[in-house]
Amino acid sequence: MELKPGLSALVTGGASGIGKALCMALAEKGIFVTIVDFSEKNGMEVKSLVEEENAKFHPVLKFPSAMFIRCDVTDTRELTGAFKKHLATYGGLDICINNAGIGNPVPFYKDQTDGSDSWRHTINVNLMAIIDCTRLAIQTMQVAQKPGVIISMGSASGLYPMYADPIYSASKGGVVLFTRSLVSYKRQGIRINVLCPEFVQTDLASKVGSKFINLMGGYVPMEMVVKGAFQLISDESKAGSCLWITKRRGMEYWPSPLEEAKYLVHSSKARRSSFLFSLNLQIPESFEKLVVHTMSHKFRSATSIVRMPLRLPIKPDHVLVKIIYAGVNASDVNFSSGRYFSGNNKDLGSLLPFDAGFEAVGIIASVGDSVDNLKVGTPVALMTFGSYAEFTMVPSKHILPVARPDPEVVAMLTSGLTASIALEKAAQMVSGEVVLVTAAAGGTGQFAVQLAKIAGNKVVATCGGGEKAKLLRDLGVDRVIDYKAEDIKTVLKKEFPKGVDIIYESVGGEMFDLCLNALAVYGRLVVIGMISQYQGEEGWKPLNYTGICEKLLAKSQTVAGFFLVQYSQLWQQHLDRLFHLFSLGKLKVAIDPKRFLGLHSVADAVEYLHSGKSIGKVVVCIDPTFSQQIAKL
Ligand code: NAP
Repeated sequence: MELKPGLSALVTGGASGIGKALCMALAEKGIFVTIVDFSEKNGMEVKSLVEEENAKFHPVLKFPSAMFIRCDVTDTRELTGAFKKHLATYGGLDICINNAGIGNPVPFYKDQTDGSDSWRHTINVNLMAIIDCTRLAIQTMQVAQKPGVIISMGSASGLYPMYADPIYSASKGGVVLFTRSLVSYKRQGIRINVLCPEFVQTDLASKVGSKFINLMGGYVPMEMVVKGAFQLISDESKAGSCLWITKRRGMEYWPSPLEEAKYLVHSSKARRSSFLFSLNLQIPESFEKLVVHTMSHKFRSATSIVRMPLRLPIKPDHVLVKIIYAGVNASDVNFSSGRYFSGNNKDLGSLLPFDAGFEAVGIIASVGDSVDNLKVGTPVALMTFGSYAEFTMVPSKHILPVARPDPEVVAMLTSGLTASIALEKAAQMVSGEVVLVTAAAGGTGQFAVQLAKIAGNKVVATCGGGEKAKLLRDLGVDRVIDYKAEDIKTVLKKEFPKGVDIIYESVGGEMFDLCLNALAVYGRLVVIGMISQYQGEEGWKPLNYTGICEKLLAKSQTVAGFFLVQYSQLWQQHLDRLFHLFSLGKLKVAIDPKRFLGLHSVADAVEYLHSGKSIGKVVVCIDPTFSQQIAKL
């Protein structure tokens, strides 16, 4: 909903604190406001201020641009009257903000009474009245046949305990879950959301010690609360959403989609079974998978499709996953050539045949007897060998629950996690530095440029071609160097004479040399890969880099290696972060538009990635019929 002149809003507790700030911010947009509050003096004052603002937008009006209605929100009769008056005056209700709230007057642990004059009243104001206001707002919007947005004021203490005021915490916790449970009103166009700030400097928070407030990072500025409310109003996708605002971390939605996925696994039987039901998941007697039968970096001739019986029941601690999308990686050719096993003392030939592919998303099709934390129908991601297959059997501890089995999630696995963990751990990235990313429009490069940007760095990116350059500019890269149009070395020398602080390097060979020469004093170059070396006629031939020690010593530089498999303990945490950024719209995921359907297309997809033409992440849809069903859900 666009916040524009002529809309109308009703704000309870609008005479002071956050309510007053919201009334004023709405008035600054030319929105008519009904202030519902107990305090007549303050309420009338806010009414005049709102009128003053509104006069700038509506010089002549036949009705008041603001109303103050004295009302005790715990009195349902008075409250009903307020909503009726608003409807009669403005002909509808576009925005309702249920803001009135109080702290508990007597600490619960000192209260010897039955709570009639203390905690029962707090619950009545903070929770019962919000339920009542929500009910009346929905009714008003339905009567006017004009849907709108309802925002209830929760609190961070509705998300986690507030030991000093358990009653306040309980009431706000109720508001949060009440609101989140109302998501279905979205079907009628009515969006109901909850806003949960930590301490904001108002009378309500004045009783809390400054030491504690400082510990929490200080007061949340009022502008942030207004910004949060406006985001919930204007973003049409937000319904049943809970926006948590802290000084420490800014604005975040609660719970993160990944957390929500975990929660749904455990308790949302209905949704889970409907997911499964609509997918019509059947376990066949046999399935196909791609195996490496000959060690070679030539993926097509190294692999073949084999059919295997699907033996049930599965091992007690394993799950069976129906794979929907598998991710394609530059390293698929290193895997098929046996390079990943070169540390293994065994005769490499004895390992053949082995399963190909190492990342996918899908749906759990069956669980072993001892698995109690995962259920059939759960969407999951996995990063285990053998994901170029229709089904795979995996120990349950390797399963990463996800919100949806989509291509974007596949991209966040090897490609996204490599960028996220390598920049943090190997590159020691903070902010305010210059970060160079090579092969930046590829699977992992696209994540590296965005994460470096989000962290507050200046980002330089190399790529080959105009279309890739456009993608990188769209992703916010400060300086894109299309090496087909410009010479990388010349640009870096001219525009970054002091050198580059961090280099995320995945091309190798001459590019590595060039990057090392462009590294600043104290610079960190992270070796992510050497894609230019993987596909030589005879496979990967290691190179010598003459004088590397002298170069590093002279400028206190670091060259660090990074291999994702050694960081498995961080996968879940970083995947959670990537998904969170993605769901906030702060991180984009580019999927190459070329469609690869079925296991037979995997070799085409691997060759396509190595052709240098791909843009973003290359993904194979293992079961197109299944993916169509998923897309409809
Ligand atoms: P990708 O970046 O999507 O690979 C495709 C891009 O690489 C191409 O568009 C091209 O980009 C460049 N390229 C392809 N062949 C090349 C060649 N022969 N010479 C020079 N450039 C070439 O692939 P990815 O799967 O995300 O992998 C990228 C790199 O990251 C690889 O080196 C891979 O091994 C590494 N990686 C490492 C880890 C780890 O744990 N260390 C994990 C994942 C990936 P431009 O022409 O636009 O530059």
